Amino acid sequence: MPVGPDVITRAAYVHVPFCVHRCGYCDFTVVAGRNDLMHAYLDAIECELRRELKSPRPVSTLFIGGGTPTYLPVPALERLLSLLQAWLPLEVGAEFSVEANPAGFDRSRMDVLQQFGVNRISLGVQAFQQETLQVLERDHSPQDVARVVDQLRQAGFANAAIDLIYGVPGQSLEDWNASLAATLALNPQHVSTYGLTFEKGTTFWGRLNKGDLKRADEELEREMYSQGMQQLPAAGLNQYELSNFARPGFECRHNQTYWRAEPYFGFGPGAAGFDGRQRHLNHRSVTTWIRRVLNGESGIMESETLDADLAAREAVMLGLRQVQGIDRSHYQSRFGRDVRELSPIAFDQFVATGWLEATDQSIRLTREGRFVADTVMSEFLVP
Ligand code: SF4
Repeated sequence: MPVGPDVITRAAYVHVPFCVHRCGYCDFTVVAGRNDLMHAYLDAIECELRRELKSPRPVSTLFIGGGTPTYLPVPALERLLSLLQAWLPLEVGAEFSVEANPAGFDRSRMDVLQQFGVNRISLGVQAFQQETLQVLERDHSPQDVARVVDQLRQAGFANAAIDLIYGVPGQSLEDWNASLAATLALNPQHVSTYGLTFEKGTTFWGRLNKGDLKRADEELEREMYSQGMQQLPAAGLNQYELSNFARPGFECRHNQTYWRAEPYFGFGPGAAGFDGRQRHLNHRSVTTWIRRVLNGESGIMESETLDADLAAREAVMLGLRQVQGIDRSHYQSRFGRDVRELSPIAFDQFVATGWLEATDQSIRLTREGRFVADTVMSEFLVP
């Protein structure tokens, strides 16, 4: 079945750009020390919801990310959640996620989230060693994490996700294994493990080029990723995507929308939206986005229409991220051809090297293939 503008969008992402300070590696749309913009930001969110949706649109997944959504003071958080309740009401059984930073995430904010139906908290923990957190310029301590997880349970949240980062300068394999162990001791429903990247324009990028920071050794990073793939499933958190692990039934349904190349709304500065054919990207400058939206203009900075070929290629790139891979007959009926037809030579070569596993039903990366996922996926992206 082709996905297009006629397909109902049932997922929405809302970006909250505020943080206490900008961490050195952060490449997200963030403003630090600009609490003065919070009021205008909320006014703009209200305008953008009204302008783009026209009438309330029920969703089955809603994700508030950032930035640090839980940095908003309680009254601002209540206003944001009231707006979303009015414009993006939750369907029965919907997943409602909010990203949180352990620093400053207190019981009063948890109670507000709980009142508005938030049922999944994604905690940016990153590491359990103070030194590693300091390198990353995070402002929480390992003790904050334990406190927050405990309070979340008391507040009635049954679905907590923990994000970790490996490949941090100075982080040893022992540190990483200790972080995995500390994470498992907290018994989360979901864990994400991300390799640190040095993005152009970040402080880390500048420090890397000055020789002030050193990338982790490639072999060490590989071993860290491998340890996650070994230890998390052994504790009942099955890998379902390159970077994501979950107890059965706790896979992040919102992110699965992206990997399945299904449509989603995006609101707030820097947010992306997709209607099945067109992809939109909002202005990344928070002040520009606010000014435009409050002036009655669109907050969208650029739109791209995916032609049939690009849509088919992107769906492979995204679908291969999932451990279950791509369902061949579903893909055939949606895009009118088989995955192999996109890049037959590369396809056969990856199967021969043991990076891709192809059966009549599905195509997926092997365990070995997950280490070289970028190489494999990029071959399918280019015609
Ligand atoms: S807390 Fe997260 S979003 Fe905010 S600056 Fe740090 S990495 Fe970026």
